[in-house]
Amino acid sequence: MRSVTLPSGEQVPALGIGTLRMGENRTARAEELATLRLALDHGVAVIDTAEMYGEGLSEMLVGEALAGRRDDAFLVSKIYPHNATRHGTAAACERSLARLRTDRIDLYLLHWRGSVPLAETLDAFQGLQRAGKIRYFGVSNFGLADLRELWSVPAGPATATDQLLYNLARRNIEWDLLPWARERRIPIMAYSPLEQGRLIRDPRLVALAERSRFSPAQAALAWLLCQEGVITIPKTGNRERLRENLSALQETLSSAQLHEFDQAFPPPAGPRPLETL
Ligand code: NAP
Repeated sequence: MRSVTLPSGEQVPALGIGTLRMGENRTARAEELATLRLALDHGVAVIDTAEMYGEGLSEMLVGEALAGRRDDAFLVSKIYPHNATRHGTAAACERSLARLRTDRIDLYLLHWRGSVPLAETLDAFQGLQRAGKIRYFGVSNFGLADLRELWSVPAGPATATDQLLYNLARRNIEWDLLPWARERRIPIMAYSPLEQGRLIRDPRLVALAERSRFSPAQAALAWLLCQEGVITIPKTGNRERLRENLSALQETLSSAQLHEFDQAFPPPAGPRPLETL
């Protein structure tokens, strides 16, 4: 499995799995659980969840999938901004740990920027690190101006990642944020790599996929996996679609193919606002 290096030097697999809306539907639950376990069997270690997802239901499903095999995973969860105060952070983390049935979260992210001062949240994250409750911390949905501000806080440069909307149809971060992060060797976690399923029906992607050996989903993921310093976390609660997504790892795109992708989905030609979902 291709991997990405965290600022600490630790390597994590570049293809993970997202869990938004998982654990919420009783009839889908067994297949979702089987999908998460199959993902772990295939070395898809990065499992992304959040206290927000189903108000804990996603974390509970992940906890069940990890029973007896916690060490196979690199577990990512996120805290609501309104919880990210000095005391609120420790309490929210304890609740997540209980739902996840584990003693540690590998990467704990501030889900988006709220009104709590960044220094206070980072102080609380460092406290959790010292207590062994989290291994790394990071942010999500932070634009470049937010990241610059974060870097001015003492613990800011210890941030391990920024999780952002990034896919073929959402390339705004390539203009300035991605180069800034690469310069500092901060990997980016690309969320909604399939634009929540909409991208695979985009005629431009369908045409590109037809000219390759890929399905549209594989083409979208293969393109992201060619981007340096990018981890991506497509969500699927279905084993067949997980196998399809895993096949995106088998081949890299040639420079001629990458050029075709750029023609169909042009990179930004100037600074553009941060996009979120
Ligand atoms: P996504 O991964 O782009 O797309 C997921 C959708 O695509 C699901 O409906 C899934 O359906 C479908 N799908 C997956 N593989 C497929 C395939 N091979 N063929 C056809 N359909 C396929 O969207 P996402 O869930 O928004 O993003 C991924 C993860 O990023 C989330 O789950 C979450 O962990 C994280 N996220 C973070 C933020 C943030 O603010 N930090 C925001 C959004 C998402 P099935 O499950 O039925 O296969």
